[in-house]
Amino acid sequence: MEKNDSPLQHPSISVVVPCYNEEESLPIFARELARVTAELMALPTPPRSLELILVDDGSTDRTLEVIHGLAERDDLPYQVRWTSFSRNFGKESGLYAGLEAARGDLVATMDADMQDPPALLPQMYSDLLTGAWDSIATRRVDRAGEPPIRSAFARLFYRIINKISDADIVDGARDFRLMTRPVVDAVLAMAERNRFTKGIYGWVGFRTKWLPYENVDRAAGETKWSFFKLALYALDGVAAFSTMPLAIASVLGGLFCIIALVMAIVVVVRAIMFGDPVAGWPSLMTALLLVGGAQLLCLGVIGQYLAKAYVETKHRPIYLARERGEGPLPQTGAKGATPAEKDVRS
Ligand code: UDP
Ligand code: MG
Repeated sequence: MEKNDSPLQHPSISVVVPCYNEEESLPIFARELARVTAELMALPTPPRSLELILVDDGSTDRTLEVIHGLAERDDLPYQVRWTSFSRNFGKESGLYAGLEAARGDLVATMDADMQDPPALLPQMYSDLLTGAWDSIATRRVDRAGEPPIRSAFARLFYRIINKISDADIVDGARDFRLMTRPVVDAVLAMAERNRFTKGIYGWVGFRTKWLPYENVDRAAGETKWSFFKLALYALDGVAAFSTMPLAIASVLGGLFCIIALVMAIVVVVRAIMFGDPVAGWPSLMTALLLVGGAQLLCLGVIGQYLAKAYVETKHRPIYLARERGEGPLPQTGAKGATPAEKDVRS
């Protein structure tokens, strides 16, 4: 393909936003995105059109109503399309559904709570247009506003997982990205159920530019992540992108075998040379408990992988949609997609 007719010449953009109980944040987000869309359209090489894909992840508040409200508006400079899940499937499933629905040449993923500032989009867009990158990703440079223990554990997690996995997982990486079509298709091709997005992006590779930015607080509502949920998520990440714990379990097993062998020899030799003075109960118990504990630990590790394999082999869908829909194409500006164009694409 010639360089000049690359889809980057006049691309359409999809913005994918997973929403779980975001009735308060969504209107703020929609307004800010409208402002940023106008900014994008005013660039020397503006995008052809922009669509906002909202994925309602089984919200229990009025999020879906807010989405319907947004979709009915015809004054927005972007088209609103939505998918509503049958229940809460988690953010990772929401992102997958959104990427699947996205029709854009470029696709952005971001949170609804304004922690991923839409104002960064024009810069990300311009960076992608240079053709030097396949994906513009963001990472926060500080963890301000976060409990110190949480930050400490997060750092530890990134140190460990990068040692034991072949996916390059960046500390502080957000799920806020702007990607070209090939990257989106690569991510969609990874149709695993245990979706650890940060690992998936690291694993697929591509030329990624990292934009650092300062952490911002949520615009409204509160985070859905407790410390416990985060810890489990970290373990999921390890299991999804590394088999190192299994290797450690094997090495530990081998080590204990050697120790046991040496101890057996010592005991036999000692009994032959000095007789058997029925002593040594403490050492016996210690060894017994240690080995027993190590066995249970290793069994647990194996069990974790077995459980993951079990879930994957069932090939259950990553999400179930209860409802899908789309609002009108934007009226304002001649740059919006025409209805005829819509027919071709759908
Ligand atoms: N989210 C979701 N499903 C969930 C939890 C969260 O779709 O089960 C969405 C949420 O609406 C938000 C994004 O994922 O748009 C990030 O969630 P949150 O702000 O709670 O996480 P944090 O920014 O604290 O990591
Ligand atoms: Mg957030």
